[in-house]
Amino acid sequence: MSSATLTIDLSAIVANWQALDKLTTCETAATIKADAYGLGVAKVGPALADAGARIFFVALASEGVALRGALGPGPGIYVFSGHMAGDAEMIRSADLTPMINSVDQLLCHVEALPGHPFGLQLDSGMNRLGMEPAEWAALRDIALAQRPKLIMSHLACADEPNHLMNQHQLKTFVEMTQGVDVKRSLAATGGILLGKDYHFDLTRPGVGLYGGLPFIDAVPVVTLDVPVIQIRDVLPGESVGYANSFVAKNPMRVATVAAGYADGLIRAMGAKATFTHEGRKAPVIGRVSMDLITLDVSNLPQEPERMQLLGLHQSVDTVAGFAGTIGYEILTSLGARYDRVYLT
Ligand SMILES: *Cc1c(COP(=O)(O)O)cnc(C)c1O
Repeated sequence: MSSATLTIDLSAIVANWQALDKLTTCETAATIKADAYGLGVAKVGPALADAGARIFFVALASEGVALRGALGPGPGIYVFSGHMAGDAEMIRSADLTPMINSVDQLLCHVEALPGHPFGLQLDSGMNRLGMEPAEWAALRDIALAQRPKLIMSHLACADEPNHLMNQHQLKTFVEMTQGVDVKRSLAATGGILLGKDYHFDLTRPGVGLYGGLPFIDAVPVVTLDVPVIQIRDVLPGESVGYANSFVAKNPMRVATVAAGYADGLIRAMGAKATFTHEGRKAPVIGRVSMDLITLDVSNLPQEPERMQLLGLHQSVDTVAGFAGTIGYEILTSLGARYDRVYLT
């Protein structure tokens, strides 16, 4: 087998969902946008539904359609982007609940699908999606008369517990929803960890389910094992890879493994990255190519058949750190060429 193996532990995703659920007394939904953060919504959705998740969040109506296909009727599927032009048929046929972001979206929704359930998204300070306080003040009575299923907002800095923005957004959200008799949601993974003031009626964790920070107690979910294609000796003065960017100072053993930036192992991780073999580190040397990466395996006691990038020894956040990015980007970049194995 020449392709790398991405192993996705569905029971670990379920365990993380249950652990996040235990941190609150309210309902816990699951955010499975972007194909469940790259891990496969057709597998992740049903696993979480079997574990008791009743509400799911996706980014786009088309993602909601795919999820409905996997889940069947019953669970709520809420769409963060709301009701966009052209979405009505998808929203109706897949029974999706758009999270309405503006007056225009509300008009579009009630015109195209009168009586169809919806929620409302408020902007409490992030300035990305949702109605701003003034817009909301003008629309509030009309919108509430249509009986929304949920009112939500999103925190910009929840992964930094001491950031003043958290309290500011909490206060704004409370003010904007004062006296409203509708279920409320503010917290994603980071918000759950901020404590019960942030929990309201429903939380919507994403990254923590998949083993990423800021949920420090997450169980690891993904393992990525990459086969070694070839091992060679490199002499002092010889170069490795494109642009001769690595030149050996000492004699070394170099392994070439079968994955590269086309598989989401982004080029920017370059010289800071390591792979592991039975817990021992092997540094990446030279440039990351499209399909190949070269590693210094001189310190390994035997010739490896496979090298591991993600797993017990290196988390998604460790690998993100190699590239100066976040675990979310590593997960959602994981490529289509991997042989995907699901553990249940
Ligand atoms: C992505 C997203 C979430 C989930 O966030 P995590 O940090 O992955 O837990 C929740 N709510 C909204 C609005 C989002 O965009």
